[in-house]
Amino acid sequence: MAKYVYFFGKGKAEGKAEMKNLLGGKGANLAEMTNIGLPVPAGFTISTEVCTYYYANKKSFPKSLQSEVKKAIAKIEKAMGAKVGDVKNPLLVSIRSGARASMPGMMDTILNLGLNDEVAEGLVKKTNNRRFVYDSYRRFVQMYGDVVLGLKPVHKDEIDPFEVIIEAKKKSKGVHLDTELTADDLKDLVSLFKNAIKEKTGSDFPQDPMTQLWGAVGAVFGSWSNDRAIAYRKMYDIPESWGTAVNIQSMVFGNMGDDSGTGVAFTRDAATGENVFYGEYLMNAQGEDVVAGTRTPLPMSQLAKDNPTIYAQLDKIRKKLEKHYREMNDIEFTIQQGKLYMLQCRSGKRTAFAAIRIAVDMVEEKLITDKEALMRIDPEQLNQLLRPVFDLKEKESAVKSGRLLTKGLNAGPGAATGRVVFNAPDAEAWKKRGELVILTRIETSPEDIKGMDAAEGILTARGGMTSHAALVARQMGKVCVAGCAALDIDYSTHTMKVKGKLIKEGDWISLDGTTGEVIEGKVPTKPSEVLRVLVDKSLAPKEAPIYQEYAKIMAWADKYRRLKIRTNADQPDQALNAVAFGAEGIGLCRTEHMFFGEGKIGPMREMILADTVQERKAALAKLLPLQRSDFEGIFEAMNGRPVTIRTIDPPLHEFVPHEEAAQRQLAAQIGITYEKVHHRVESLHEFNPMLGFRGCRLGIIFPEITEMQSRAIFEAAANIQAKGIKVEPEVMIPLVGNVKELEHQEKIVRRVADEVMKEKGVKFRYLVGTMIEIPRGAITADEIATVAEFFSFGTNDLTQTTLGVSRDDAARFLVPYVEKEIYPKDPFEVLDRGGVGALMKIAVEKGRSVRSDLKVGICGEHGGDPSSVEFCHEINQNYVSCSPFRVPIARLAAARAALKDAPPSKTKKAAKKSKKK
Ligand code: ADP
Ligand code: MG
Ligand code: MG
Repeated sequence: MAKYVYFFGKGKAEGKAEMKNLLGGKGANLAEMTNIGLPVPAGFTISTEVCTYYYANKKSFPKSLQSEVKKAIAKIEKAMGAKVGDVKNPLLVSIRSGARASMPGMMDTILNLGLNDEVAEGLVKKTNNRRFVYDSYRRFVQMYGDVVLGLKPVHKDEIDPFEVIIEAKKKSKGVHLDTELTADDLKDLVSLFKNAIKEKTGSDFPQDPMTQLWGAVGAVFGSWSNDRAIAYRKMYDIPESWGTAVNIQSMVFGNMGDDSGTGVAFTRDAATGENVFYGEYLMNAQGEDVVAGTRTPLPMSQLAKDNPTIYAQLDKIRKKLEKHYREMNDIEFTIQQGKLYMLQCRSGKRTAFAAIRIAVDMVEEKLITDKEALMRIDPEQLNQLLRPVFDLKEKESAVKSGRLLTKGLNAGPGAATGRVVFNAPDAEAWKKRGELVILTRIETSPEDIKGMDAAEGILTARGGMTSHAALVARQMGKVCVAGCAALDIDYSTHTMKVKGKLIKEGDWISLDGTTGEVIEGKVPTKPSEVLRVLVDKSLAPKEAPIYQEYAKIMAWADKYRRLKIRTNADQPDQALNAVAFGAEGIGLCRTEHMFFGEGKIGPMREMILADTVQERKAALAKLLPLQRSDFEGIFEAMNGRPVTIRTIDPPLHEFVPHEEAAQRQLAAQIGITYEKVHHRVESLHEFNPMLGFRGCRLGIIFPEITEMQSRAIFEAAANIQAKGIKVEPEVMIPLVGNVKELEHQEKIVRRVADEVMKEKGVKFRYLVGTMIEIPRGAITADEIATVAEFFSFGTNDLTQTTLGVSRDDAARFLVPYVEKEIYPKDPFEVLDRGGVGALMKIAVEKGRSVRSDLKVGICGEHGGDPSSVEFCHEINQNYVSCSPFRVPIARLAAARAALKDAPPSKTKKAAKKSKKK
């Protein structure tokens, strides 16, 4: 018979860390912690299979579950020496959700389950602590009301109905903190809460503990498909089919008095990665208090002073966990009357800065290998290291002039400037219309996820370094300043008061997430440390610790990757930046941007408006020296690295003016009539320019254009070679679908190359190849490769032509398509492996079948997307090419792809090692 329930307690567990799929992350780690001897309150996990069953069977449970749960409860009761519902000696439990991947705060936990009016009175007798009992009871009714019975705020400016009752109570008693309420106040709250529930739902709050328990279990499974869980899964690619587990665990109490408390910590600093114990706790509080940010918690360093014994125990556990998991962990603990309990551990979310520092440090501490370090850094995270920071001088002067509004916790490093909005839907809406926003909240909750994603930065009035806002911001790589108690936020008027100033919705503010400063107005930014070292060269590497870590990671990545990394650049300065980031060549130098440069658009337009070949050649002759010097600049900057230059690609109408005034001006410039200009522009009009007169079609109808461009390339090559710099031009013909097109163009290119070599009396190496960007080109790759010496996948166009979708017109249906999961991702961002990828695979195989040394690359936008890079590795391409700032990302992605499919001889040892632990 299927087993659905896994017990843990008294030093032994039926589960273990490797069983995450079945037990969820939380359940698997509770089991693991139990097994390695950490103090974990007894409990059991209902497996994710039940969740799957629940949704497959009209939200019902498997038959055998009831009896399994009963048995497991009996086991907890035995372990804890208390009984569910026993008035004299009641066992209370928590109901905790836990999916495979951690979904912070996505599904709600219910604490203190098992309390009812009678049990509460019994527990008062047992503990002699009335305040504790009614504090626990009111929390239970509140959580149960919220999670199971659906008493939640409905409108965005509303607050929690239970919080309204609590606030009213506090006001009537003239107190500020929950802890100042008396036992009687709390008991009063319980009945007020129950009334609210009765009013809202029409039924009484359930008194029977087992009814409570099954209600809660159902709610956890139900919450797997609530809106915010779905939104979170979308954002982080968590499949719906995974399901969640439910953990039922005996309660330990952090709210039993001043010798009790609860905390959340990281085994290293989650913002910077420094190897220090990093966390927060609150005395006389229950779990959620620290995370929810209703009271501002104390730092771990305070615990070291106030309770050195507990601190020492925790520090020992911190080290034990890091050794055991070989990973930075995020832990939750509770102290009950001076005794420590562990309630959760998992691999800790961290900023990109921390991810990199921790990975590098752990390699140095010999906890992990350099390969493992690479696998632990999400390539996209490198983006964060390249992002601007505030210019210190500018910030200082802003502070001096009195613009410092307040200082909070530096929860998410980086610099952000934007306009204040006070709720998540507004953040989304403003962002949609192109505004930069700072989402400002008293505290954030999982409902705010989408708004947080839309914001440049997040600012909260309450909560600590481990508050929801801080956790999520770090994970998203957002700038975040949390816990600014000085902010007096009023949701209803969309304003806040701080330091006697009134900040309204739409006002500009700046957040320094590295220092916690909140500054009125805009503060200018400057390049990040990595950029200052590599690009500006204004900082010495030895003065740049973050750069040094970056450099180590990049060096390891280069050691393991097989793909070469090139860049898409058409100007020498772009090319130089890319080289600084590690580019090994140019994979796509577009020539059309050059025609817009200084003095070039004039002759370009003359060429387009020309009536005869003679006129056209005259105009092209003016362009030749200009384009040649562009290429010289590029070759010089690339200093011997290969450069792929694409001949003219866009339709000609993109180069001519479309408004009458501009056409008249152009006519006057060239000395022809306006009517002629107008007529010519009209005649260039196309219904489907994307499928029109562009690409190699231009060069075939106007061979003199290809001729001029080839000449510019080869003369530049000869000139630069004469300076003693190696050159390796690769001439790339776009939009080829038929080998005859390529043959036509290749003849011109080779003839001009011969001419230039003869004229200049030199020899240089060059290649002629093509872009594969229409399906016919891919499918006839074995014909095309008889002429082409290289292929480069133009996956922007290849995606358009394969899917029959125009990227410029797709927004209206592509977004809904992704929402409906017709395509898992925007195919213009992440390569569509099934369609476009399949064509690429065919092209590589067919191409190499006739030319075994065919060089293959990619130059579409996908070249900088980690998943697409992985695919390029898998189909044995030689290189990927991406924009300069994505080069580091591509290097890491390429290394990770190589490590994933390392040949068996290399992985055997590693596999053995990982089995052992
Ligand atoms: P999340 O998945 O949102 O982190 P948890 O299941 O970890 O939710 O529970 C939230 C809080 O409740 C935690 O901080 C934890 O400390 C506390 N908690 C959960 N179970 C227990 C328990 N059995 N005893 C005491 N506190 C608990
Ligand atoms: Mg937790
Ligand atoms: Mg193209």
